[in-house]
Order: sequence, then C-alpha cells, then structure tokens
Amino acid sequence: MFNKEKQSKADLNHYMLDDDYRDDKLNEECGVFGIFKREGKDAALAAYYALYALQHRGQESAGIAVNENENLLYHKDMGLVPEVFHERTLEKLEGNIAIGHVRYSTAGESIRENAQPMVIKYRNGKLALAHNGNLVNANQIRNRLEEEGLIFQSTIDSEVILNLISRHRVSSAGIEEAIEKMMGDIKGSYALVILTPRRLVGVRDPLGIRPLCLGITEDGSHVLASETCALDAVGAKYLRDIEPGEIVLISQDGINSIQTQKLDHSKLCIFEHIYFARPDSYIDGASVYSARIEAGKRLAMEHPVDADLVIGVPDSGLTAALGFSMESGIPYGMGLLKNRYVGRTFIQPEQGQREKFVKIKLNAIRDVVEGKRVVMIDDSIVRGTTSRRIVQILKDAGATEVHMRVSSSPVKFPCFYGIDISTKSQLVAAEYSIDDIKGMIGADSLGYLSLEGLLKTPLESKCGFCSACFTGDYPLEVPDDANESSCG
Ligand code: SF4
Repeated sequence: MFNKEKQSKADLNHYMLDDDYRDDKLNEECGVFGIFKREGKDAALAAYYALYALQHRGQESAGIAVNENENLLYHKDMGLVPEVFHERTLEKLEGNIAIGHVRYSTAGESIRENAQPMVIKYRNGKLALAHNGNLVNANQIRNRLEEEGLIFQSTIDSEVILNLISRHRVSSAGIEEAIEKMMGDIKGSYALVILTPRRLVGVRDPLGIRPLCLGITEDGSHVLASETCALDAVGAKYLRDIEPGEIVLISQDGINSIQTQKLDHSKLCIFEHIYFARPDSYIDGASVYSARIEAGKRLAMEHPVDADLVIGVPDSGLTAALGFSMESGIPYGMGLLKNRYVGRTFIQPEQGQREKFVKIKLNAIRDVVEGKRVVMIDDSIVRGTTSRRIVQILKDAGATEVHMRVSSSPVKFPCFYGIDISTKSQLVAAEYSIDDIKGMIGADSLGYLSLEGLLKTPLESKCGFCSACFTGDYPLEVPDDANESSCG
C-alpha cells in the first residue's frame, strides 16, 4: 500500500488523517469463564460477576449458559455485561454449573448469532461452548462439513468446534474422547469452556497461546477463567494454569485431567502481558503488573532521555510508565486523563470536529505538563494516529518536549490467533522506519523496547511466548485461506 521511498512527509500526514479515528489499538480477544458449584444453584450469578471482571477482553456481546437437569438454559445478547443481564434474567438461569463469555470480534460479524456461549442439541444431549481464540484451519473444516451437507448458523469458529465434538461423540466412549479427537482436527489458538448437563470442561490449545486458569472457592467449587482477576471476583483461590494441550473435566466426583498433544515449547501471546490482561491478573505464573513494571525499567535502560516528567497513556501505559520512572529517577505524574464514559453508543463527530473528539476521550492535565519535558509511555503503536493526537494534546497543554517510549517492539506482522490485526497495511511499523514514525507522530524522540528486553519482562513465567507480530515467525503454519483474526 505504501512505498516508503516515494512518500513525502505531506503524504505521510495525509495517510495519518485518512486513517484517523479508526481504533488505533490491538483489540482484546474474548474472555471465558466457567464454574461448577458444589452448593447452591446460583452459578449464573457467579458467572455474571466474573464477566464483569473480564469485560476489558470484549465489549460487543455477553452471554451465560447454565445446566437445568438434562437441559441447558442460556441468555446472550449484544452489549456490555450490565446491558445484557438484569436481576430477573439471572434468576431464570438457575443451575449449579455455568459458563460465560464476553466477545470482541473483527472478521466474524458483530451480530447476535455470533454471541456466545453457543448451545447445540445433538444425539447425545446438549452442549454449550465459549471460546477465546482463532482457528487457522476453520475455513477448510467448515467447507468440508458443508460439502457433507451440514448447515452452519453462525460465522464463527466456535460452531465448527461444536460440530466436530458432536460428530466425534457418536464414535467415542465419552465427551473427553470426542474433545480429544476434535483437538486433533483443529489448528490455532483456543481456550474453551464447555458445559454439559453434568460437567464443566476446560480445554487449552497445545501451544497455550490463549490463557486459561483454574481456581477453587471455599466451598470447593471449581472455577475456570481467562484471567485470575475473574477468580478474585468470585472469591476463588488460584490453583494453577491449565497446561497447553490439557483437558480438565469437572464433575460431581471431582476433577480429572487429560494431557493430550503438548508441543515442546508453549507460546503464550506476549500481548497478554503487554496490554490485554488486567494488571491485577497472573498469567502462566507471572504477574502482569510486574511484567509491565519490568518493561518500563528496561525501556528506561535501553532508551534513556533527559526529561522532567514521566507519564503513561491510560490505562495500559500507566504501569510501564511507573517502571520507567523508577529506573530513570524522573518523577512520575498523571499528565493524561481518560474519560471512562465514552462508550459504543457515542455519536462520532463530523470530520472537522474530530480534534474535539480526542479531547473528550483523553485530555492533558495542563498543571502537570506545562513547561515540562515529558516522557510519554504507551504499550504499543499500531497505526500511529492516536499517538500523534496525544503528542499534540500534550504540546497544546504546554509540554516543551514530548519523548515517546513504547513498552513493546514495533508491530510489523498480522496476527492469526485472535487479535484484530489482519493486514500489514494497518501497521505503521511495517511500512516506515522508527525515524519516519517519530516525524509522523510529532514526537521529539521515539524508542521501542527491544524484543530481547520484552521477552524477559514476565520474569516468573515458566512458559515460552508467541511474538509473531514482531518477528513474523509464526508458531503455527498459517494456511493461505486462514481466517482473519477474530475471537470465537
Ligand atoms: S501474533 Fe502477536 S498478538 Fe498474535 S498471538 Fe502472537 S504475540 Fe499475540
């Protein structure tokens, strides 16, 4: 799309304006949750609280499914958790096992049919599934099944997974065998929670790209969640992470584990630590907060700068900014304020009023930044449009210099595992040098954390990481017709 050699600075600015106001962030994937309550029938209420804690992972739709004798009940719709669920809705979802889902989508359409959990009735009963991730061979499997006469009701991978389980179940001794066979068919990233009338099942892909952890409440109820912050929300204690390639089956008799195909090196998405997960979560044994502090410290070591103040771009840049301040000795301040009430229903302004719109979403605190040489920390740069706006806001508020530091490496390659960067042309670092980007965003200097430094930041982690969007080195072969990255 862009030829670096031929672009003048004016052209670059034109590009920035053209792409203005498209969301300039890697977007969250989805969040999943499951609970098997040992006492009481209010599993849906626990799922509701947990989905609140996971809301940052998806804001398009939300849903909960519960068991009712041999039946499954569910409620799902477009919107945020408090928009989808009300007290009366939850009262109708009575059962001791529940699964829940919050969804963000890109390629899979943002329609109610694609909301999860997905519930099916098949020969052996009923089954509900909530999925975080993206299959790279879903199109191939879907085409094959459609040629055999199968009809799909949604456009999401999760329905492919459910169909495979139900087909394999016919020739399997139990659901666990059917799930294991399904895992042999699919390729990609997935953290699944599955509900049957009597069991809760958790499954993690063989590379462990998407996270899934296990917890337990005081009354012995087992809980599965994308992040530990959801365990905290229901008063559950963290037990462990589900291993890559593991199936856990939770029933009245307790918990069973089956370790299926496990590859030599796990590949947790490094962006969980950089941006997606909440800083109060632990993923694969490592604190997200500590990883971000460490990223900020390493950034200060790699790209020191003479300045008066360190600030972070809310929210995910704040913790790394604190780390940068700790290491550099430059005071930390709150130079930017984010408006938390600009939601999906905000009426987008006309072209000429867009400057104002940025200031509705994010504004500088003049008293903090005026007359200061500011170091501004953000977690990543995708298109660069937002960075440019923020630099301008800080300069308008009287900052004498703005030095941008990024607590990850340049994002140059698309993701096929559940994150919404599907083409290189959406990525400014794929097309331009760091010096070009510095000019485009109007910063006085720009420094990214090196990949080597980045991979050392989750210090306690026992897993390896996927970093393909920085390197192009994909842990799973990506077929030509792979799905664009979409959750579920
Ligand atoms: S390509 Fe990037 S965003 Fe996608 S899973 Fe790998 S590290 Fe995460």
